[in-house]
Amino acid sequence: MKHQDLREEVAEVARQMISSGLVTGTSGNVSARTPEGDILITPSGVDYEIMQPEDVVLVNVDGELLDGSLKPSTETPMHTGIYRSRQQVDAVVHTHSRYATTLACLGWEIPPVHYMLTTLSGDGRIPLAPYTTYGTEELAGYAAEALGESRNACLLQNHGTITVGESPEKALSRTVVLEEMAEIYYHARLAGEPILLTPQQIEEVATKISGYGQSKPASVDAE
Ligand code: 13P
Ligand code: ZN
Repeated sequence: MKHQDLREEVAEVARQMISSGLVTGTSGNVSARTPEGDILITPSGVDYEIMQPEDVVLVNVDGELLDGSLKPSTETPMHTGIYRSRQQVDAVVHTHSRYATTLACLGWEIPPVHYMLTTLSGDGRIPLAPYTTYGTEELAGYAAEALGESRNACLLQNHGTITVGESPEKALSRTVVLEEMAEIYYHARLAGEPILLTPQQIEEVATKISGYGQSKPASVDAE
């Protein structure tokens, strides 16, 4: 994808974080990996509603500024750390979405309480990275460790969420699922003792859900 298209997608997903109510003000950040392996990331502290595609900053995978007149997100070390440790990841979204952050402030991770969690994490568990100051290399390390080799989501204690994907849109859609799961788990915990899925149930559903949805109609393939 061309840089301009990717810049527009990063800016659009940042706006959608606001319009969907996942973040307020300038909280959270979005990034994408370019075909050359550099990173396009939202600028720090800029209102997403007025942010333009050209305000998105280009840094290399070590976080060094390559192009842009604005300062990159303070969480650039967290984004670049994830890209360095996960070659298949091409987009990262960070938010302070309400329910997921509520769990993160309680020090709760999300256990395998709902089958949709397998779209975020193979074992149905969303881990919690320990607290440290925002924007630090230490936080970057904790986040990369919590995501591990294959998870698409984690919580950051007393802070928020991270999701990853092959595009900013995909990473954002995973934040929406994470927030829904966090809300359900929070209410279930308030009402009683949630029933957890067994490792076998998780394994079965994880296999099944990888084929969920519509594949291309056979007639289209045959053309
Ligand atoms: P930036 O505005 O610098 O991206 O920071 C927002 C944030 O969520 C910090 O954790
Ligand atoms: Zn944050």
